Amino acid sequence: MRIALLGSTGIIGTKVLNVIRAHPDAFSLTALAAGHRVDALLATAHEFHAPFVMAADTDALHDALDALPDPRPTQLRDTDELCSLIASPQVDMLVCAASGTSGLKPVITALEHGKKVALASKEILVLAGRAVKEAEQRGGGHLLLPIDSEHCAIFQCLEHQPHRFVRRLLLTASGGPFRHRPLADFETITASEALRHPVWNMGAKITIDSASMMNKALEVIEAHWLFEVPEPAIEVIIHPQAIVHSMVEFVDASVLAQLACPDMTLPIQFCLFHPERQPALCPHLDFTVAHTLTFEPPDHAKFPALDLARHVLRHPDQPLGAVFNAANEVAVDAFLAGRLSFAGITRLVAHTLDACSDLRGTALADALHADAHARALAADALDKLVPPRGGIRSIMST
Ligand code: MG
Repeated sequence: MRIALLGSTGIIGTKVLNVIRAHPDAFSLTALAAGHRVDALLATAHEFHAPFVMAADTDALHDALDALPDPRPTQLRDTDELCSLIASPQVDMLVCAASGTSGLKPVITALEHGKKVALASKEILVLAGRAVKEAEQRGGGHLLLPIDSEHCAIFQCLEHQPHRFVRRLLLTASGGPFRHRPLADFETITASEALRHPVWNMGAKITIDSASMMNKALEVIEAHWLFEVPEPAIEVIIHPQAIVHSMVEFVDASVLAQLACPDMTLPIQFCLFHPERQPALCPHLDFTVAHTLTFEPPDHAKFPALDLARHVLRHPDQPLGAVFNAANEVAVDAFLAGRLSFAGITRLVAHTLDACSDLRGTALADALHADAHARALAADALDKLVPPRGGIRSIMST
């Protein structure tokens, strides 16, 4: 299996490489793409003999390649060159672990050409779920494999089960670090507090998203597109131990769950080998010691992000997923830069959704327009804020 890997230097990308390293006979890497960590990208290309490389920082990669002796990998200069390679017989599978929505065009290209896509970048489905699913249909269907642990769990629970038997999807959430924090404190939560996740070790964006439960809100929308289940049939359950990765309830009241240690190596290996299974590269659950698994409903007053996701799904003819994702990215950047309070993240997203309520259409062009429009509106709303004396701007209190 020849793989193109987007986001090779990130936390998920590094784990993808671990899985490939453990199975050298099963996989080879045709192309590696990364953002700005050119040295790490080239070290990986050297180790795996990847013939093509690409970086967001094209000049830095060009200079670094110039300094290498032959044979050196070929640089892909832009997304169009990457997409041409993905469409060619040199690539069998795309693994997308790039941050945000930068992998959108490559994902659509791979699907249209009937190639499997192991998808970690949930934002792509939130931005343009309809366009991505239509591309999958054009490519023959059954091509998307979710690396996101909850969706990989649901995917496993749903295998060989007709759609008509499904009553609801039960997405589990660890609840993040602020489950027990009083709502009144949410204005003053700092970035360093929000960056400490109790279970998962992840990048900054997804860690902040987990703390605000924006991550789970994005996952509700992701689940809607992946499994074609309507909004009322997707529930979120707080499960702090993060052992049950998600569940499916069927019409006969049976609930199937997937359990495992919280380690992304498992869903990555599952997707890369699907429909085969391979011996674990992560620890096995140990039932010779006692476990307590708890489940509770989320607190919607503390975490309004979940209701915002439902608002998005209740307007299927509008590109509100694109708005939701774009506004959240602007809000998280602003929070990390000290320009927005923690509670301000969801307020800025709600404000931007409201300001975009007249947008219509869900084709790819509509989604891309909504994305750009929402980023501009959210940035503009931030700029209009007046900083309070001596601290983080406490904003958008309406
Ligand atoms: Mg997840």
